[in-house]
Amino acid sequence: MGAHRPSAEFPAHLDALYRGFPVERSLAMDPLSCVRPFADDRRAAEVAGILAATLAVGNTRAILRSFGLLSARLDGDFPAFVEGAGRPESNGQLKEFRHRWLRGEQFEYLGYRLHELYASYGSLEELFLEGMAGPDGFAGGIAALAEGLRGPAGAPAPTRYRYLFPSPLRPSRSPCKRLALFARWMVRPEYPDLGLWKRVPASELRIPLDHHVFWIAYHLGLTARRTPSWAAVEEITAALRAVDPNDPVKYDFVLCHTGISGDCPKHRDLAICGRCAVRPDCRLWRGRRAS
Ligand code: SF4
Repeated sequence: MGAHRPSAEFPAHLDALYRGFPVERSLAMDPLSCVRPFADDRRAAEVAGILAATLAVGNTRAILRSFGLLSARLDGDFPAFVEGAGRPESNGQLKEFRHRWLRGEQFEYLGYRLHELYASYGSLEELFLEGMAGPDGFAGGIAALAEGLRGPAGAPAPTRYRYLFPSPLRPSRSPCKRLALFARWMVRPEYPDLGLWKRVPASELRIPLDHHVFWIAYHLGLTARRTPSWAAVEEITAALRAVDPNDPVKYDFVLCHTGISGDCPKHRDLAICGRCAVRPDCRLWRGRRAS
C-alpha cells in the first residue's frame, strides 16, 4: 500500500468538522476549563495554565478532579502560591496531593521554579520569546520554557520532577505536549483559548500531540510516522498550516476531543463513521464506501 494522503477536499472536510463541533460540550471536559476563569489576570492564568497542563495526563475527569483538589489546597490563589514558594524545599503544603504518578512535592517545586522565573521575567511570554528569538524558533521557545521550569542541572529537584518538562531540542526530541498545549492556551486569540500572549503569532504554534491527535492525524494522512515525536509535531503542523496558515492549531481542540468524546470510535463503525466529516480522508475507509 502507498502512503496515505488526505483527499483534495480535505480542507473543506476539516472545516466542516471544525464548524459542526460541539465546543461547549467538550470544553467542560478539557483542562482549559480550569484556566479560563483566570483569563483576566495574566499571572494567575499562566500559573493555573502550567499546573493544568502538567496534570494533563490520563482521564479527563481525573485531571479536572485533581486540578480542583490542587486549587482547594492553594485557596484558589495561584499567584500567592508562587509568591510564597521562595525555597526549593517542600513546606508540606501539597504533601498529600497525588495525580497518577505525580506527587505534591513536584508541584511545590514547580511553584518554586515559577517563583524564580518571575523574579527575572514579568511573564513567561518573555522567557518564551527569548528562546524563540534563537535559531530554533518556536521549538527554542518551548525549550526555554522547559529549561526554566526544570531548573539548573544538579539542583535538588524531587524525584522525576525534571521528566515533566522535556525539551524538543534534547536528544529524545519529545513532542512536548504539555508545553505546546500551554502555549496554545496562552497565544490563540480565538475562543476557547485565552489570547493573553500578544507577541507570539498564532501562525507559529505547533500542535500539542497527545495520543488522540496523533491517532487521527496518522489516519488522515497528516503524517506517516508511527511514533509521536517533535518531527511528527512539525509534520502534522505543516499539513494543518496548508489548511490555515494563520492559525494551524485551531483544529487541535476538535481533533483531540473527537477522540476523547468517542465521536471517533478509532475503528470502522458505519453508524458513527457515516456522519464523520473527514471520513473520505480516513485511512480506515480507504477504497470503501459508507453505503
Ligand atoms: S471515519 Fe470513523 S474512524 Fe475515521 S476519523 Fe471518522 S469517526 Fe474516526
